Amino acid sequence: MAFAELISEIPTLGILKKSIESARIGHAYLFTGADRETLDRAAVAFAKSVNCTQATHASEPSPSNVAEYCDHCTTCEQISADHHGDVQWIRPESKSRLITLPQIRQLMETLHLKANDARTKVWMIADADRMNQQSANAFLKTLEEPPENSLMILLSTQPDRLLETIQSRCLRLNFPGDSSSTMKSEHQSWLEVFARQLAAKDSGMLDRYKALDTLMEKLAEARHQIEDGLKDRFLGDLPNDVEPKIREKRDKELKAAIEGQYRRRRTDVFNALEWWLRDAWLLSLQAEISTLTFPDLAPASHELATRTDAGKLLDNIRLIEKLQRVLHTNVQETLALEVHLLKLNL
Ligand SMILES: [Zn+2]
Repeated sequence: MAFAELISEIPTLGILKKSIESARIGHAYLFTGADRETLDRAAVAFAKSVNCTQATHASEPSPSNVAEYCDHCTTCEQISADHHGDVQWIRPESKSRLITLPQIRQLMETLHLKANDARTKVWMIADADRMNQQSANAFLKTLEEPPENSLMILLSTQPDRLLETIQSRCLRLNFPGDSSSTMKSEHQSWLEVFARQLAAKDSGMLDRYKALDTLMEKLAEARHQIEDGLKDRFLGDLPNDVEPKIREKRDKELKAAIEGQYRRRRTDVFNALEWWLRDAWLLSLQAEISTLTFPDLAPASHELATRTDAGKLLDNIRLIEKLQRVLHTNVQETLALEVHLLKLNL
């Protein structure tokens, strides 16, 4: 089945087609959705369309670029039969149902070798959420320094189980059946204010600072909720005349628990921000509104998408990823937020 036909069945694929045609392919994608077979078919179609020997491609954007595959050339046939040296699958191993370190090591080794005859080496990782801790950490290294002309497609029906650091380094595409309802209910309202402040047509420095305030308020609210929830649990049963040493110990434990929970919540906040920037990126590639994580924020996302371009929007997503990495290093939070938000290229 040709790409165009498959797109009518799986509309999300249209986004990938546009990325290929504008020569803006990321190096790592996360395909999420409820139906494994749809994810598999989408990944195979993507692998074919970047490698088919009959389709015309160019590395530079050009009106004549057509993202298509023939399904008949040797390359397409080998990919269909899972028999192409440069296009490979990783799946959880049968007994443990885990993706193991040796599997990831093999990926890392072959990904760095020169391709035999493919334009782009492709690794497709089915049930990527089944990586154990060792393999996930090893894989993260590959994601941080992806080899040239390589493409990694992670497939997952339970993306929340993937390391946040892996999720944030992949471009996520939601295929039918994916539920982002928690994301919406938790983050839509602050993002709406934030997006309006950043995306306003004549947005200036003052709006940036307003947006920064909105973000800080959301984080402060999260911290207060966590504090309220934990204080009682850690200190509630202590009598007033308790030994200072015991109180001190409890205080320390409380502080550590708050910090741990807060960091997780903060990651959620930045992930939501990244999904919104992705929405703008998708719109810059003329994607349908139904493919967005926050369709209700489409006006602001669209404003941003028309004012800037796909490349700059990808840079912005990377900037927020970088901010997340920086925040893991105990840097002063407010300062890091200010520096990075002012650097956004909007
Ligand atoms: Zn072909």
